[in-house]
Amino acid sequence: MNTPRHFPSCVAEYDPNALPVSAAQEIVRQWALPRGRTEVEHVGLFNALDRVLAEDVISPINVPSHDNSAMDGYAFDGATLPSGSDHAARSSLPDDALLRLTVAGTALAGQPFEGHPLAAQCVRIMTGALIPPGCDTVVPQELVQRTGDAITFAPAGIVRGANRRLAGEDLAQGQPALRKGRIVRASDLGLLASLGIGGVEVQRRVRVAFFSTGDELRSVGEGLAPGCVYDSNRYTLFAMLRRMNVEPVDLGIVRDDRASLERALRQATQGADVVISSGGVSVGDADFTRDLMNALGDVAFWKIAMRPGRPLAFGRLWSGKRPGEGESALFFGLPGNPVAVMATFYFIVREALLAMSGATPYSLPLIAATSSQPINKRAGRSEFQRGIARRDTAGHWHVVTTGPQGSGVLSSMSEANCFIVLKHDAGNIDAGDSVDILPFDGLI
Ligand code: AMP
Ligand code: MG
Repeated sequence: MNTPRHFPSCVAEYDPNALPVSAAQEIVRQWALPRGRTEVEHVGLFNALDRVLAEDVISPINVPSHDNSAMDGYAFDGATLPSGSDHAARSSLPDDALLRLTVAGTALAGQPFEGHPLAAQCVRIMTGALIPPGCDTVVPQELVQRTGDAITFAPAGIVRGANRRLAGEDLAQGQPALRKGRIVRASDLGLLASLGIGGVEVQRRVRVAFFSTGDELRSVGEGLAPGCVYDSNRYTLFAMLRRMNVEPVDLGIVRDDRASLERALRQATQGADVVISSGGVSVGDADFTRDLMNALGDVAFWKIAMRPGRPLAFGRLWSGKRPGEGESALFFGLPGNPVAVMATFYFIVREALLAMSGATPYSLPLIAATSSQPINKRAGRSEFQRGIARRDTAGHWHVVTTGPQGSGVLSSMSEANCFIVLKHDAGNIDAGDSVDILPFDGLI
């Protein structure tokens, strides 16, 4: 484990004014560690959605619990099948002869057939019904001719064991059904219920304290004096945090003075796992925030080669008198510009929150798209432009930008349906070039 004062050295090999996004992500990854075993709680199924499993869930039963039919049809002993079955030798029928069986009874889902069919008998069976003893194969009803209590069908193409779901085929008893670190999805709730499990051990949600900084900021409901703007970042942050199912703690607006900021940072650090601020890290504001971070903790990096999002402070804060004392929290000092807040959240903060949640981090899925226009891009920084992507009839993706890419233009995020992700080394993009896009659906 790194000691608090140690980690700025991880950035030593990079220009501190142009830390590549990939290097920043790596540093954040090293510092965002899962919390301990004591942070686990038990929740019922209805409260388990989007929570992170704290341990493997072992299947207590086989699912399905018994062999059952995958089709509506007739169950019989596959040994009666002629060639094509694995018991060809036991059958005296020529390949093209029809098989004739008499119907001994019916098996419905939840109502098994009680008897034991004899040779040359079959059981009318519905999907999900138990395969009767002595039977192992189901011929679908569409393939049979039924006359009275007898059926005939051509056995070619039916192999022994056809249309039978085996016990434990979905989930085998004693095997892990879901892994620790899994974020529980809708299908998982159903899966847990199918195992008869009513609740699971999950990690405590990561607590994230957040606030906005700026003398010019006004809250919704207040009047707007000249030069003032409404604080939108707290709403965007709240929404993004909720989407990640962490526990947001809203600390409001903090004025641009050292004492207010110090108070806010100390308060935030007590009880929170992560502290996120916006604003106050660009040139001009930066100095006292940086002084304060040095006084309360450690600064890992200050600027990253990213647009939007260049001024971004990352470090660890301590609630005690000196760094290393009291409670600690990771700190992300995001830029003030509203689009930069969103871009830095998704590309720098998101994975840290996942890791601290105990979730197995996963990469966001990028899709290759053809740029329908030239895009100006400077090599030596990652850019996250707002794009509108569409899929053509042949299945290819095409993307255009939303137009002016100012990092204060929040409407560009609402208008866009994806980020256009332009890599660190890439230069200008020509129309027709391939670029990566990150769809917003399910993300923002
Ligand atoms: P700063 O990083 O504090 O210099 O802020 C950069 C720009 O973002 C300025 O134009 C701010 O007015 C704007 N800004 C900062 N915080 C917020 C906020 N919470 N909501 C909306 N705009 C903001
Ligand atoms: Mg400011």
